[in-house]
Amino acid sequence: MSTVLDPIKMWEDLHKIPELAMQEVKTSAYVTKTLQDLGIEVQTGIGGTTGVMGVIKGAEPGPVVLLRADMDALPFTIDGKECAIHACGHDSHTAMLLAAASRLKDRVKKGTLKLLFQPAEESISGALAMIKAGVIDDVDYALGAHIRPIQDVPAGQICPAVNHTASRTLRVTVHGRSAHAARPHLGVSALDVACAIVQGVQNMWFNPAGIWSMKATQLHADQGATNSIPETATITFDNRAQTNPMMRDFSERFAKLVEGTAAAYGATAEITELGACPAAEYDEDFKQMVIDSIVRTHGQEAVAKDCGGGGEDFHYYKMHKPTMKAAYFGLGVGATPGLHAATMHFDPKYLPMGVDVMVDVVEHLIG
Ligand SMILES: [Zn+2]
Ligand SMILES: [Zn+2]
Repeated sequence: MSTVLDPIKMWEDLHKIPELAMQEVKTSAYVTKTLQDLGIEVQTGIGGTTGVMGVIKGAEPGPVVLLRADMDALPFTIDGKECAIHACGHDSHTAMLLAAASRLKDRVKKGTLKLLFQPAEESISGALAMIKAGVIDDVDYALGAHIRPIQDVPAGQICPAVNHTASRTLRVTVHGRSAHAARPHLGVSALDVACAIVQGVQNMWFNPAGIWSMKATQLHADQGATNSIPETATITFDNRAQTNPMMRDFSERFAKLVEGTAAAYGATAEITELGACPAAEYDEDFKQMVIDSIVRTHGQEAVAKDCGGGGEDFHYYKMHKPTMKAAYFGLGVGATPGLHAATMHFDPKYLPMGVDVMVDVVEHLIG
């Protein structure tokens, strides 16, 4: 018996049980039960997390295709109370993938379909945990999707490639030497060195054809006497680059700038990476398959231009296994005022469009 599940109904269910990264207990139980009720083989607790994966095997040999949804919500404080809200729409991704599973369970003729429900995208730890658990090792094609804000993609259209940037959050700690402010030559001001580093970054130039940014977002120095030379200072930076090679180039030059500037002042400094996410890297032929699927299911007028911005831990999969083909489309659902806003809302009537594209891509590859 085949049951086709409605993504809108499941989104309504999941929207009521928002859970933070690595705490998606109710969500993963909902996913597990839905997959089991469909008669799909399920693996739970992947890598010791809340990750869940459904596996559908075809009768003939063929490629391994992975469809990935994320499950976590975001933390907010409203009226002094901490809460979780699905402000990034991951509930809709989970619902779309479950709906796709219901349509695909009897339609995989060759190879294997992996339906991955990944935890903790927002904390950039979920994809890495799935990789560690070996989920990606045998995968030939990986497809992800995200609802897009109205500013990015018009409602009812799909952009075949979301060009996420590489991002890093860095902390620079400067170690100087304290002294009386009346005798500054006896010390090394960590604050002066920190300021020189912030200024130095502003004078680093890269090819303006590429998109990048490096913003100092916090600066702290010793809070001692107002007439003491501060011994330590910390700066945090938010760093973005459109491509991974550009980010590598940036990282190398930034490390030299920090080290060289500190040395010139007689100080030392170290860089700590607080968080990082690679840029999107897509395969043109797989991207073209996604475009073909959009056209087949909803016509040429549904194809939006590529969109971008923000980060996604999905891209760790491609970084871990470069021979795997990756694609990631963006679904225009009229999300407003924007993702990550506590009041983010969208029209779920567009969710079946995303399901159609996932199903069509899989049928094309292994159906
Ligand atoms: Zn998000
Ligand atoms: Zn998201």
